[in-house]
Amino acid sequence: MARPVDLEKLRTAMGGPLPEEPQGPIDVVEGLARAAEPGLVGTAGPRYFGFVVGGGVPAALAADWLTSAWDQNTGLYVLSPAAAVAEEIAAAWLIELFGLPAGSSVGFTTGATMASFTAIAAARHAVLERAGWNIEEDGYVGAPSINVVVSDESHVTIFVSLQMLGLGRSRVHRVPTDDQGRMRADALRETLARIEGPTIVCAQAGNVNTGGFDPLPEIVEAVGALPNAWLHVDGAFGLWAAVVPGMDDRVAALAGADSWTTDAHKWLNVPYDSGIVICRDPAPHHAAMTLGAAYYVETAGGERDSYNWVPESSRRARGFDVYAAIKSLGRSGLAGLVGRNCALARRMADSLRDAEGVTILNDVVLNQVLVRFSPPSAPVGAGLVADAATDDFTRRVIGAVQADGTCWLGGTTWHGMAAMRISVSNWSTTEADADISVEAILRCAREAAANLAPA
Ligand SMILES: *Cc1c(COP(=O)(O)O)cnc(C)c1O
Repeated sequence: MARPVDLEKLRTAMGGPLPEEPQGPIDVVEGLARAAEPGLVGTAGPRYFGFVVGGGVPAALAADWLTSAWDQNTGLYVLSPAAAVAEEIAAAWLIELFGLPAGSSVGFTTGATMASFTAIAAARHAVLERAGWNIEEDGYVGAPSINVVVSDESHVTIFVSLQMLGLGRSRVHRVPTDDQGRMRADALRETLARIEGPTIVCAQAGNVNTGGFDPLPEIVEAVGALPNAWLHVDGAFGLWAAVVPGMDDRVAALAGADSWTTDAHKWLNVPYDSGIVICRDPAPHHAAMTLGAAYYVETAGGERDSYNWVPESSRRARGFDVYAAIKSLGRSGLAGLVGRNCALARRMADSLRDAEGVTILNDVVLNQVLVRFSPPSAPVGAGLVADAATDDFTRRVIGAVQADGTCWLGGTTWHGMAAMRISVSNWSTTEADADISVEAILRCAREAAANLAPA
């Protein structure tokens, strides 16, 4: 799955001087396929646990081919009524799947990064408009100040969105998190009590390390008590828990926020690129993004001009894949996919936990598992504390698993401790894949321990 890539070889195979003369398309495409192959990563495969990447369900992959073949420009309704209607329908389905307020507006972005960028731009418009300021027309000079509240575990893409929006990645109030990386509601209330004026709060559904969820019911209540605040929820993968009966408690009160980010290219298992932004109130969303008049009026026919909802004008018709994925899976199939991935994460955690020297660091509430490996010499309990020998051994095991090739996963640092990170997000991963992978991980750990033994 993961194999060593010889960068120079790859450059040579794919490169060469600028072609001066034409070449037949079959030759070009066959040559590209051959030359690129050694540099491809099996991220779409069933035993790739490296990041929350998802795969591509067959209907979405085929719809993606159609999207390329049709080559529709999706900026304006008149450029492709079919693309606009696919987005309109997919948008309504998504709102219903997540249980969000009917009438919310939806934008189809490149990914969750641009979805959060869009949502925070809408938030910026809304809180400043209430303070008597039009940010799109008049910019920041002389504008009322905005408080931005994030948590210590907000995703890096929240900070990059703030950076791009002129709100500053460091000019934020950071709320401390608990042992699972969840925003502490008591600390949020203390922070909010200290600030006044226009306020944007960014919460998270699904921590990239633990899978943990910020306590939305308490956050919604605390933010709702402020006179001029907007609550954004980054649920790039965690939002999909809302679709699973029995897991939706993790996102209780989700509908009480003002905007949401998620990725279809993660857990809906559509090909890249496919992020989604949803705003309860279409007006600030429209005002922040539109190329046209900054006020929002539904046209008589309600035709969807996509440029009103995303930062781009001309772009790929992303709605077709999302439409096809939802249609082929249905609500039950999607719930099955997400629920199955989470059950597989628990299965892997349970099998690993039983082995000697293995510590699971997180509560496995979603699809994420953090694993630490202590060397045989380590004192009991070393897996749960910052211990250099355990850090080092954990990294060795990760390296050995990557070299072994049965599955692929990477490392992370959680609260100062090196850990292996397992993310399960592919529709095609089976129990057998999970079991084979756990066997390989434990075999690599045993071999790494044997290699440590003094000669
Ligand atoms: C993946 C992820 C993002 C970024 O998503 P992209 O689609 O890569 O832009 C943002 N937030 C969270 C919580 C994520 O897991």
